[in-house]
Amino acid sequence: MTEARTQASTEPAAVPADLTQKLRRAVEARADDLVDLLARLIRIPSVNPKFLVDPAFNREPAVQDLIEAELASLGFATERSFPWPDRPNLIGRRAGSAARSLALCGHVDVVPHGDLGQWSSGPYEPRIDGDRLYGRGASDMKGGIAAALVACRALADVGVVLDGRLEFHAVVDEEGGGTGAMAAAAASAGLAGVLIAEPSGGVLRPWAGGLEWVRVTLRGLSGHSARRFASIYPVDPVNDVPVRSVNAIELGTRLLAAVRELETQWGLTRRFPGMPAGMNTISPGVMVAGCGEGPDGLPALLGNPAMVPDICVIDFDMKFLPHERSADIRREFEDWIGHFAKSDPWLREHPPEIRWELGDLHFPPVNTPLDHPLTRSVEAAIRASGREPVIAGMLGVTDAAHYTARGIPAVVFGPTGGGQHGPDEFVLMSSLTETAAVIADSVVRFCGVRA
Ligand SMILES: [Zn+2]
Repeated sequence: MTEARTQASTEPAAVPADLTQKLRRAVEARADDLVDLLARLIRIPSVNPKFLVDPAFNREPAVQDLIEAELASLGFATERSFPWPDRPNLIGRRAGSAARSLALCGHVDVVPHGDLGQWSSGPYEPRIDGDRLYGRGASDMKGGIAAALVACRALADVGVVLDGRLEFHAVVDEEGGGTGAMAAAAASAGLAGVLIAEPSGGVLRPWAGGLEWVRVTLRGLSGHSARRFASIYPVDPVNDVPVRSVNAIELGTRLLAAVRELETQWGLTRRFPGMPAGMNTISPGVMVAGCGEGPDGLPALLGNPAMVPDICVIDFDMKFLPHERSADIRREFEDWIGHFAKSDPWLREHPPEIRWELGDLHFPPVNTPLDHPLTRSVEAAIRASGREPVIAGMLGVTDAAHYTARGIPAVVFGPTGGGQHGPDEFVLMSSLTETAAVIADSVVRFCGVRA
């Protein structure tokens, strides 16, 4: 990477090569345990109830029971909190200094299995084929959780006494917007760093773009479609009276074109090293139009094309770059829409309405510097494992956003897999041991070892 490095406040600890080797051997000795632990986690369906309500599948608490037993056997003090009723976060802590405190974090919820017919085997019955272990959550992200737990186990096996406090955050609801991580981060003031073991393909990902969902509502004027000719000849030629309606769908399509222009400008003129060009997009995801406004802000009457629609609602999914700020991006979007509206006589009088944080969704960007001790610790641990570190941004959003929002530096590093959010999700078992070894070594470098 080419980014400049600045002076870091806390230097990563130097780790003797033989300690790195001991940790790796301890992890390798636990390779079967790791696979077994992951299999047990997969067998407990923990589908986020925001997607599917079925007690047989919404078993986040049972996953937490399993993780809690692991943490307790490793000497962690554990504590539950409830961001949602019956949906516990689980936090484990081992005493140590705050200055070098680090949390290993994973979400326990998974997305629904979808169409069972598309799976080659049961999503909650782990299946091994070569290096692949299949099952819902294998990769996203019970694999990362199992690897992080085995990293803690290896630290105990080797008898490492850390200087910094080591925490384990098993959180709910990442797939539903991250309220679990929001609560965990809010309760973690002073935490010096968090490593999130989402499937990163062995790539260190200290950056992610921000994400906003925004709704734009346009209002027109309803009328009979038979009089649409008045949009071409504004005076009724038979009765010689002015008639008018303003079609909200057409206002919406013009707004879409204007937003596409802004999106193109962003994509062509702004870059962040380590992120693909043009990832800063404004994607229209939902568009609905009709007559009259219901109490939910959506059209009350749909399905009658003889009526000229007077309301059009468009929801956008907006991604921006790691070094950009939500507040600036929001202002820029509002200014752009404002300018668009001023260019039209109707919209000048009836300006579009803009609503942020649709569905309470708000992901600030993650931009942990390359020279931050956390980034450097993981980078050094990857290098010590004999591989050249690859550092790049994360395309999707993760719980890292919610820790960053609370001022807690975050990076993502985890195993390699595929099929996330689809059928036949899998993780490479070789990448699980690799992840566990690198995490154990990263913990030692970041937290330091007591002499
Ligand atoms: Zn995930």
